[in-house]
Amino acid sequence: MALKSAFEGKTIWFVTGSQHLYGEETLRQVAEQSQAIAAQLAGLPVSVEWKPVLTGTEEIKRLALDANSDDSVIGIIAWMHTFSPAKMWITGLDLLRKPLLHLHTQANVELPWDEIDFDFMNLNQAAHGDREFGYIQTRLGVARKTVVGHVSNPAVQQQIEDWQRACVGWNVAQNLKLARFGDNMRFVAVTEGDKTEAELRLGVQVNTWGINDLADAVDTATEEQVDALIEEYIATYDVVPELLPGGERHQSLRDGAAIEIGLRSFLEGGGFEAFTDTFEDLGRLQQLPGLAVQRLMAEGYGFGAEGDWKTAILIRVAAAMGEGLPGGASLMEDYTYDLIEGDEKILGAHMLEVSPSLSSKRARLEIHPLGIGGKEDPVRLVFTADPGPALVVAMTDMRERFRLTANVVENVEAPDLPKLPVGRAVWKPQPDFSTSAACWLAAGATHHTVMTNAVGIEVFRDFAEIAGIELAVIEDGVTVRSFQQELRWNQAYFRLAQGM
Ligand code: MN
Repeated sequence: MALKSAFEGKTIWFVTGSQHLYGEETLRQVAEQSQAIAAQLAGLPVSVEWKPVLTGTEEIKRLALDANSDDSVIGIIAWMHTFSPAKMWITGLDLLRKPLLHLHTQANVELPWDEIDFDFMNLNQAAHGDREFGYIQTRLGVARKTVVGHVSNPAVQQQIEDWQRACVGWNVAQNLKLARFGDNMRFVAVTEGDKTEAELRLGVQVNTWGINDLADAVDTATEEQVDALIEEYIATYDVVPELLPGGERHQSLRDGAAIEIGLRSFLEGGGFEAFTDTFEDLGRLQQLPGLAVQRLMAEGYGFGAEGDWKTAILIRVAAAMGEGLPGGASLMEDYTYDLIEGDEKILGAHMLEVSPSLSSKRARLEIHPLGIGGKEDPVRLVFTADPGPALVVAMTDMRERFRLTANVVENVEAPDLPKLPVGRAVWKPQPDFSTSAACWLAAGATHHTVMTNAVGIEVFRDFAEIAGIELAVIEDGVTVRSFQQELRWNQAYFRLAQGM
């Protein structure tokens, strides 16, 4: 059973503000035209539900409370078609706990220059009403995304879609339960973090189980279940002969399949959409989970190696935000560089756990020794991430808060790597290798990241805005000096913003 769609059953409310000053006829037109605007958002991935026009303090407050308590509502789009005196919005906006997008649009594209009169001006005055609304949002410090332009404009639609995807990511985080099998890798600093703060800031529940709880679940896998899964492997991947039924190492594939069955039943049973393990604590497991983790990540589960629950959160969130788009989200680790001057590249991989969703090609299913962990040789999928735009994002614990660091990158064709049988990616970072790496190190960003080739940086910007978390972006136009300066300002801002 695959992970449930993060979009299913979710909705965004479309809210229009006005007032009673204009009379019933104008309010009727406002309602009609705002329904027409909302209807033009029907092609977006999250359905948009039009709500009746709001004209007073009590109904605005009621709408905010209803949105807060309705689990299907993952965001609000607000538009002031006419003038809606913004003191009416103070209590409602102050109570609202769902992500907000301020759509600064209007009903018409062109002005009817020859016929325009003051009735037209009074009806079509978002230029005026939205400024009043912008003021009160800023005055109250309301986090939101502002999108400007006519809804028929594809750039406007794309910005709203990006925000919708961020709303999905936020909703997933708010409901995420993460299971850790064992603790972090011993002595490692960057994978540590404040789990209490993660639940407060992101809503994620991070809790630990013993690895042998997982081993118990693996023990319950039946021969029939294993047979069925082996058939699925053979249909989906190029399986090397030694792992096939009758092959001399077939039992290793059966052990890998049993791990997948056990892991899946443990996660489904507990409602977990993300998990971690560590090679230092494998208990009674036969192998370090490789294939199973790769396949679960490809379905959208979050995963962190070496106990890295922060990266596991990012992977689950990125996978949900990218649902329905080509590509996917995976654990990635900066490993080693090709330092030919002017053509520098980063080779990223992990021991085993990279998601085949990064590749559109059929993966190979192989078995090879693993130098660490002290267990039997693990089965794993071998492939290279598709060339094309991608993003790597890291989450670090800055002691009193979290920081996200992102680098916009381009995955490139990799040469054959006959002696590196793992999932991997080769990329060139923006704006250039040395700037990227210097900024990454200045930010204290991790070697573990989520790599996504499904969503771009705008979706993560919107997510960070909703979450109220710092996002430092390394992309074209950034210099080491400007980036370091931004980190300093952020340091001050985010400390002040969270209060004493
Ligand atoms: Mn690692």
